[in-house]
Amino acid sequence: MDYISLDLEWNQAYPEQLEAVQKRLGTRLRGEVIQIGAVKLDGNMKIVGSYSVIVRPRFFRHINRHVARLTGITQDMIDLGQPLTEASERFRRWCGEDYAFLTWGPDDIPMLEDNFRAQGLDASWLHRVYDLQKIYNRQTDGSHKQRSLEFVMEQFGLPQNLPAHDALNDAFFTALVAQKLNVPAGVAEYDKTVDLSDGVLLSDVSGDADVGAAGYRTPFEAVHDAAIAEPTCPLCGGALEFLERTVHMKGQKYLRMMNCPTHGKLLLDLRVSRNLNDTFRVRRTIRVLDEETENKVRARLAEEAVSGRPRRRRRRPRAEFRENAAATENEGGNQNE
Ligand SMILES: [Zn+2]
Repeated sequence: MDYISLDLEWNQAYPEQLEAVQKRLGTRLRGEVIQIGAVKLDGNMKIVGSYSVIVRPRFFRHINRHVARLTGITQDMIDLGQPLTEASERFRRWCGEDYAFLTWGPDDIPMLEDNFRAQGLDASWLHRVYDLQKIYNRQTDGSHKQRSLEFVMEQFGLPQNLPAHDALNDAFFTALVAQKLNVPAGVAEYDKTVDLSDGVLLSDVSGDADVGAAGYRTPFEAVHDAAIAEPTCPLCGGALEFLERTVHMKGQKYLRMMNCPTHGKLLLDLRVSRNLNDTFRVRRTIRVLDEETENKVRARLAEEAVSGRPRRRRRRPRAEFRENAAATENEGGNQNE
C-alpha cells in the first residue's frame, strides 16, 4: 500500500458571500480548494512521486487578501487553474488503486469532501484517512496537543528549506515527518481503536438538512424524537432502562444515563446544531458510562433539583441559538416532568 501525504490551500469567502453561497448550495462549504499538494510514499516509506495543481474556484472566485498573502497564490494563478472536476479526476488517477491518506491535522479531507459535494463529485475514494498528528502524539509523548508541523520538524531536526503554506511543500514536510514515525504500526493501531475510541458504541446524525435529510423544527423536537432518544442497546439490541431523566449540560448537549441488563451502564449523548435552512440536526452518541461522567451527570441532576429548574434558563443562550430562545425554554420545562 502507498501512503499519500496530502495538503490543501483553500480560498476563504468573505462572510456575506459565504452565507449566500451556503444557502444557495445547501451545503456547509466553508472555503474553496485552490491548491492540492500531495507526496506519495511506498510501503517502505520511500518518496516515489509528487502532485501539485492549482484549482480554479467556482463559488468564491476572488482570492481573499489574507489567503493570497499567506500562500503567494494570486488571482491570475487561480484564474488559470484547473476546474475541480478535472483536477480531482487527475488526482484520483495519480493516487492509484491501493493507498491511504496522511494529513497533518483533521481539516483537509473534510474540506475536500465538502468541495466535491458542492460540485456533485464522487468523494467515496477519499477513504482510509489517517491524521498523522495523532500518530505522532501516540508515538511520542502521548499528549493530545495539536503540534504544528513546524514544531515537529524542528524536533526531528528536519530542515525547513522551502516556503511553508504551499500545499506541495507542506505535503513534502508531512512526508518527511511520516518517515520519522512508524506509520504502518500507527495505522494498524488507528484502525483498531477508531471505532471504540472513548468506548463509543454508536454514533449517528439525524435531521441533517445540509445533506438532504428533513431537519427538526426545534431543538426540543430533535432531542425528544423517540427514534433517537429511546434507543435499544447497540451491543445486544435489548431494551434499555433509563436511570434518570435527561439532563441538559452546557451548550446544546443533552445526556441521559441508561442501563442494559447484560452490558451495564451506558450514556446517551445528544448534541443539537443548526442547519443552514434554520432547522436542526442532532448527533447521537452512545458509549459506556464511566464513573467520572456519571458523577458529573448526577451533580447536574442534583443542581437542577435544588434550583427547581435547569440553571441554563438564567443564562443567555449562545448567539447561534438566541433566536430560538423560546423553543429552548419549552425544553427546560419539559425536563422537570
Ligand atoms: Zn446490551
